Amino acid sequence: MSARYRYRCGECPFRTPWTSASQAAERRTRHCARHHPDLPPSGRVERRRPPFEGLPTLVLVATLLLLLPVLVLCAHVQP
Ligand SMILES: [Zn+2]
Repeated sequence: MSARYRYRCGECPFRTPWTSASQAAERRTRHCARHHPDLPPSGRVERRRPPFEGLPTLVLVATLLLLLPVLVLCAHVQP
């Protein structure tokens, strides 16, 4: 996934569309050189979190919690 970054200028309301990290940095450099040539580059790069980013971890934890009572019961079963 490459469209996860955008640059937001610190001097004006400019911001890039979501793009790759390298393109966001390139657009930042061009924007600052063109619109704020006398100032050091400022602003920030924002990272977009993909939807369901933490879902695999949540599924893993839920599965382990559901299996825990089964494992405890199996450990107490007499042969
Ligand atoms: Zn600006």
